[in-house]
Amino acid sequence: MRTSGVAVVTGANRGIGREVAARLAARGVTTVLAVRDEARGQEAARGMTGPVVVRRLDVADPASVGALASWLAAEHGGVDVLVNNAAVHYDTWQSAADADLRVVEEALAVNVVGAWRMAVALAPLLRPGGRLVNVSSGAGSFGETGSAGGAPAYSVSKAALDMLTVKLAADLRRRRVLVNAVCPGWVATDMGGAGGRPVADGAASILFAVDVPDDGPSGGFFRDGRRIPW
Ligand code: NDP
Repeated sequence: MRTSGVAVVTGANRGIGREVAARLAARGVTTVLAVRDEARGQEAARGMTGPVVVRRLDVADPASVGALASWLAAEHGGVDVLVNNAAVHYDTWQSAADADLRVVEEALAVNVVGAWRMAVALAPLLRPGGRLVNVSSGAGSFGETGSAGGAPAYSVSKAALDMLTVKLAADLRRRRVLVNAVCPGWVATDMGGAGGRPVADGAASILFAVDVPDDGPSGGFFRDGRRIPW
């Protein structure tokens, strides 16, 4: 179990991201809550134990991502864990054939390009033995619910994030950085709505990929520590 180093969690002011950040900090990992609104980030950090830092981040804004990367380099000299958790539009239901393409563009901009932008910006800072976790969803899985109707923009974005995971895993393997995609399961959050499981369970599903050993998997897709189909 990782108990030291520096972790960055995007979208850490609420929901699953907040829980992942709280758990990492409680273990002694210096945890950067990367949030769009600093005041809400500070509010989220209240009550967390351990080394917590709140920094502003909009993954859709190149300048914001660049500023965070520069700060991490100057302040910490590197990063050990990146959890690409921030996402939008699971709850935006429409038909693919009649989609509002602004929603599609937003979903891709945050869920795919945003995660990709973070990976590009932080890859040079990821230390050997590091972990990159892309928080995906069974909604983007061809083997699970991905072919069902519902939230096509979100599903397409998560399927693309899964492919990005495979590509990043191949590229970062030689630097001993393990990259995996994780579905947290259906979790009761603003995005997931009522009825899902507790954030603790979703966070545990993600922390599995933070804690995989150095000879563990890379380029996989997991939920609750078990492989799920792409
Ligand atoms: P929430 O909607 O509760 O939280 C989403 C977080 O992402 C918020 O902190 C939000 O910030 C942040 N965010 C959105 N856009 C940006 C951006 N441009 N830059 C930085 N941060 C941003 O979602 P959940 O906690 O439920 O979901 C977390 C992850 O788990 C997501 O990747 C989601 O797709 C995945 N997931 C969730 C499931 C569920 O059932 N809940 C099921 C499967 C996957 P702000 O507060 O500023 O809006």
